[in-house]
Amino acid sequence: MAVTDASQVDVLIIGAGPAGLMLATWLARTGIIFRIVDKKASRINSGQADGLQSRTFEVSRLSDRKSVHATYSFKIFDSLGIGQDIWREANHMLEIRFWNPDKRNLLYRSDSIVDTPPGLSRFQQATLHQTRIEDHLLGYIGRHSPIQVERGVMPESLSIDTENVDEDGAYPVSVTTRHLPNPDREPVSIAGVAKSAVPNGLFRSNLAADTSDTLLQDAKADAKSHTETIHAKYVVGCDGAHSWVRRQIGSVMEGEQTDYIWGVLDIIPITDFRSMMIIPRENKFVRLYIQVTEVDEDRKASKIDRSDISPETLLRAASNILAPYTLSYKHCHWWTAYQIGQRVGSKYSSHERVFLAGDAVHTHSPKAGQGMNISMHDTYNLGWKLASVIQGRADRSLLKTYSTERRQIAQELIEFDQKFSRLFSGRPGTDIMGEEGIDLKTFKQVFEKGNLFSSGLSVDYAPSLIVAKPQPFNGETPLTNGDSKVDHGSVVGKHNLATGIPIGMRIPSHKVLNQADARPWHLQELLPSNGAWRILVFAGDIIDPAQSSRYEALGKALNSPDSFLHRYRPNGESVQPCFEVLTIHSSPRKEVELLSLPDIFHPFSEDLGWDYNKVFVDDLSYHEGHGQAYDNYGIDPRTGCVVVVRPDQYVSWVGELEDVGEMDRFFGSFMRVQA
Ligand code: FAD
Repeated sequence: MAVTDASQVDVLIIGAGPAGLMLATWLARTGIIFRIVDKKASRINSGQADGLQSRTFEVSRLSDRKSVHATYSFKIFDSLGIGQDIWREANHMLEIRFWNPDKRNLLYRSDSIVDTPPGLSRFQQATLHQTRIEDHLLGYIGRHSPIQVERGVMPESLSIDTENVDEDGAYPVSVTTRHLPNPDREPVSIAGVAKSAVPNGLFRSNLAADTSDTLLQDAKADAKSHTETIHAKYVVGCDGAHSWVRRQIGSVMEGEQTDYIWGVLDIIPITDFRSMMIIPRENKFVRLYIQVTEVDEDRKASKIDRSDISPETLLRAASNILAPYTLSYKHCHWWTAYQIGQRVGSKYSSHERVFLAGDAVHTHSPKAGQGMNISMHDTYNLGWKLASVIQGRADRSLLKTYSTERRQIAQELIEFDQKFSRLFSGRPGTDIMGEEGIDLKTFKQVFEKGNLFSSGLSVDYAPSLIVAKPQPFNGETPLTNGDSKVDHGSVVGKHNLATGIPIGMRIPSHKVLNQADARPWHLQELLPSNGAWRILVFAGDIIDPAQSSRYEALGKALNSPDSFLHRYRPNGESVQPCFEVLTIHSSPRKEVELLSLPDIFHPFSEDLGWDYNKVFVDDLSYHEGHGQAYDNYGIDPRTGCVVVVRPDQYVSWVGELEDVGEMDRFFGSFMRVQA
């Protein structure tokens, strides 16, 4: 007889791929009680995604104002403190070359462009396989929490007590999970797909039928099987393209009806092609992506038999593209084939109690390496919001912004993917792409634009509770914040005070110096992912007496017991700070004395003394040049400004030093007064 246990947890994560693990990093860091289950007994150990956007790594470096639109992905890793290790290990992508047939139909190198536009980020796009990324995320989770992935566990039922969804402290989602006695019993071959001696990802591929139902049935029939009912405050489905959670909440994948089958080969190429890059990888490997065929809606129009798919057929397809150059290999590390369409889930959440993230709610081609990045960015967006609500710091209305923000990005991704994919469809017959009507110049321009998108830095969130900017005046349907109209207390930031810091985008990074010890820091390095909202005070030239008194008045207002800093900050906060105030002034560093500034800007504590890491300056460093932060951020040093930055480094609001009341109203629209 199977045993059933019952338990409670704040967050249950279903699926431990990149999306699930990224969510776990936030929850581990902020001290939330969570569990994470995965039906597989073991992790992937090669293959799958390998592209990393700059945003996933990033801390921006250069001083170009255009940097606000650039690479974004590495910043997330850097803000977790694992960016540098991954950056060192990854293969860096610096150049893209275009090959085109000439009039004799022979391929020649027609052009080359820089991969990541210069000035966008100090991290460029890079490749490292998914296993290592997951290793680093697991390492981080392990450093912050004893919680481990529970493997060989899958859900078999989910229900939401809708009476209780709005109640604080309720556990309205019940999930019964089953421990699988034999979780590794995956299909060893896939009907219609050839077997191969080389390690491959076919058994995890969606060309294989979803194994969930079979696994459950087998487990139920096994006397050793064991179930548990978990009562959770929140459940997040990070369970990939076949998502079981998606089915439970009735979210439907919408979009293009045509699927494509893609083949992937990780090989060390032996070739006379002059630049066999495709996707360069570590240890001399390159990755070839080959679109094998299309499959229409009723799955009848596949032009090839799936049993044809093998490393040999993929190599043949690649060789045809490269002819008259030749291509072969002695070492193939991994290969796979999988089927993808361009679709987005009709809903991202049910009652803001069950959420979907990653491949569970969007699918698209592997071009531009978006899959793993966008999946991690989904839960990077959700994690801090869940933590704030569970800790009672923010109202549940904050959670609606997850769906609005991330569904917008998924839709943009699908549109981008459709345009970008068209560029690659078929081989051009001549220098001019007659069929598509795209000449090489246009191709290059579209490609460059696409590169900007794929860097992850062009993300620009719409107005919401936590993005205080005006509604766009474009005659379109007004934006809504989930079910209710957007309301951020009618606070609208003053973008003109910092033209290089667009509200709704991630804050760009420029170097500033620590006032106390002159050490240069990228601004983004000062914003680790710990759940804190940052109040960046660009105090301007504080040697000027008028500006100095404005700065002092701001300090006084922030210090008042009525200010948001005090009302929303929990007493005795330790694991997760709520607010952090950082000053960046523009006076010569040596003419300012740290301890003469108002205490609130460099707080004192009995056991740790003065905080020397809160005041920074836009000045020339001894060894690393001048970040020219004010110039690059478009801030006038005579007036300065205040910038509110979210825990995920997106900009919420910009205002004047006197606008403390506006900040109060902004935070008051979703934060909760603490006892
Ligand atoms: P996934 O990585 O799919 O993780 C989902 C997790 O949930 C898995 O660990 C799974 O075991 C678990 N799970 C699923 N169902 C259940 C359930 N019912 N109960 C419990 N656990 C469950 N992207 C690229 O950019 N380039 C590539 O070359 C590439 N190749 C790929 C090859 C394959 C075979 C696959 C499957 C994907 C590939 N992708 C590739 C896509 C990329 O891996 C995904 O975009 C990325 O992993 C998405 O992360 P995720 O966490 O949302 O989902």
